[in-house]
Amino acid sequence: MLGISVIHCPYCHGYEVKNEITGILSNGEMAYEFSKLIFNLTKNLTLFTNGKAVLSDGQLEKLKNNNIILNEDEIKEVKHENGFIQKIIFKNGKEVPLQALYAKIPFEQNINASESLGCELTEQGFIKVDFMQKTNVPGVFACGDNVTMMRSVANAVAQGNFAGAMVNKELSDEEF
Ligand SMILES: Cc1cc2nc3c(=O)[nH]c(=O)nc-3n(C[C@H](O)[C@H](O)[C@H](O)COP(=O)(O)OP(=O)(O)OC[C@H]3O[C@@H](n4cnc5c(N)ncnc54)[C@H](O)[C@@H]3O)c2cc1C
Repeated sequence: MLGISVIHCPYCHGYEVKNEITGILSNGEMAYEFSKLIFNLTKNLTLFTNGKAVLSDGQLEKLKNNNIILNEDEIKEVKHENGFIQKIIFKNGKEVPLQALYAKIPFEQNINASESLGCELTEQGFIKVDFMQKTNVPGVFACGDNVTMMRSVANAVAQGNFAGAMVNKELSDEEF
C-alpha cells in the first residue's frame, strides 16, 4: 500500500489522489498542519487520530468549520486490494471506506550514525549537519533523507551536490 494509496507526502503524491475520499492518520500538531495542507487537495477529508485527539479547542473548531471529519476510534486494520486502500476497520467494529490515506510513519536510520560514527542527531532523529552538510564528526558529511524531514529527490540531489563539493574542498585543502 505504501506509495500507492498510503502516502507520506502531499507534495509528492497529492495530485495523484486529488479529490478522492481521503484520510489522515496522525494526531497532535502534525495532524493539524497536515489537515490544512491536504484540505487544499480534497474536501472529502477525515482525520483519524487512532485514540483521543490531542488538539486544542481552536484547532477542533477550525476542523469542524472546514467540514473535516474527526474520527477518534482505535484502528484494528487497514484493508487494501493490490495496494489500493479499501477501508479502515476499527476495534469497535465500525468501518470507513477510503481511497487514500496520508500517514506519518515512524522511521529509523538505516545506519546508526550516532552509535557507529558518533554523529549528533536532532530531536526528530535526523543527523545534525551545518549549512555545509558537515556533521559534528570531522570528515563526516551527510545529506538527503537522513538529515531532513523535507524528503524529496530535488532536495537530496541539491544537498548531495553541495556535500560533494565540500568534501572535495576539504581534501584539496588537506593535500595542498
Ligand atoms: C513511496 C515514496 C514515494 C516518494 N515519491 C517521491 C516523489 O514523487 N518525488 C520526490 O521528489 N521524492 C519522493 N520520495 C522521496 C525520495 O525518494 C527521497 O527523498 C530520496 O530518494 C532521498 O534520496 P537519498 O539519496 O537521501 O536516499 P535514498 O534514495 O533512500 O538512498 C539511500 C541509498 O543508500 C542505500 N543504503 C542504505 N543503507 C546502506 C548501507 N548501510 N550501506 C550501503 N548502502 C546503504 C539504500 O539502499 C539506498 O540506495 C518518495 C519516497 C517514498 C518512500
